[in-house]
Amino acid sequence: MSLLHLKGRVLVKSGGFSTQLAKHVGDKIDGDPLWGSRFDKENPEAVIQTHLDFLEVGADIIVTNTYQSSVEGFTKHLNLTKEESIDLMRESVKLAMQAKNKYIERLKDCNRHKEPGLPLIMGSIGPYGAMLHDGSEYNGSYTEQLTKQDIQQWHRTRIEAVLSGGVDGLAVETIPCQMEAEAVTEMLLKDYPDVKFWVSFQCKDELHLAHGENFANAAKSVWELVRKANAVDRLYGIGVNCVNPKFVSTLFQSLHKLLNHEQIPQLIVYSNRGEIYDATKGEWTGHDKCVPLASYVPEWVQLQAKIIGGCCRVYPEDILAIRKCIDNIGNNN
Ligand SMILES: [Zn+2]
Repeated sequence: MSLLHLKGRVLVKSGGFSTQLAKHVGDKIDGDPLWGSRFDKENPEAVIQTHLDFLEVGADIIVTNTYQSSVEGFTKHLNLTKEESIDLMRESVKLAMQAKNKYIERLKDCNRHKEPGLPLIMGSIGPYGAMLHDGSEYNGSYTEQLTKQDIQQWHRTRIEAVLSGGVDGLAVETIPCQMEAEAVTEMLLKDYPDVKFWVSFQCKDELHLAHGENFANAAKSVWELVRKANAVDRLYGIGVNCVNPKFVSTLFQSLHKLLNHEQIPQLIVYSNRGEIYDATKGEWTGHDKCVPLASYVPEWVQLQAKIIGGCCRVYPEDILAIRKCIDNIGNNN
């Protein structure tokens, strides 16, 4: 379906999937080598319910539970074969679809409906480093040992599995380094000409990617690849996720400045709550210092954010607050 009618609109994305999933499975998910992906196999009902939780509060976009899915991880930690691993990634898309269908049925029952084309199901394409489970997804250090081709080849398996499940697009997300973003973007542009996607970086402060590159340069580089390929219509946006919300406006301003405020791509932001993840302890610290995520939304909208949601530690109630905030801004225009 063409998404032209949605262009220019601000869409609300779901919150932290594994964060909410933990509520349903009663297990500690943070720190698990497969994070939430294990539950596509072990508790699919909980995965469906987690998607529904975000749809019910008004999310326009849900993202499959495949962030940490890989053949390597499933072979090692779930004893699956390569084929079974790929099937499980495809199954993850089906679980999101089941949630979407249930949600649409419920809306019909109360005579409500979502706009055509919504909600969207995006396939989560997390970074290579998430598979390593050694903290390198938060610093991108693995790119120093790998070539662009290595990265592309590794991503290709999951990309094809998720696409065969029938997603609306790919959420290339939490990418800690410029090289990986460029590698995946180039591959999508060249080898998957019908596929829509977004590219979202993980940033460690108000100027830099987790691996240290300048965010604005990295975002500009991806944007130029897309424009050179005449593929602007295939790009949902470029942005940041799993980042402290207090860094986001400065990050976006730095890109506006670098592009001279002209031809800015649609921006995407789904930050975490503002807490700090302690990878050695496997837990989040600093909750006392957080301000509500929704309070940042007007500023992000002004900076041309077109997709806004949450990442780690962002719950359905936070997404509801973001939904209301965006609806209010819409009404005031
Ligand atoms: Zn996150």
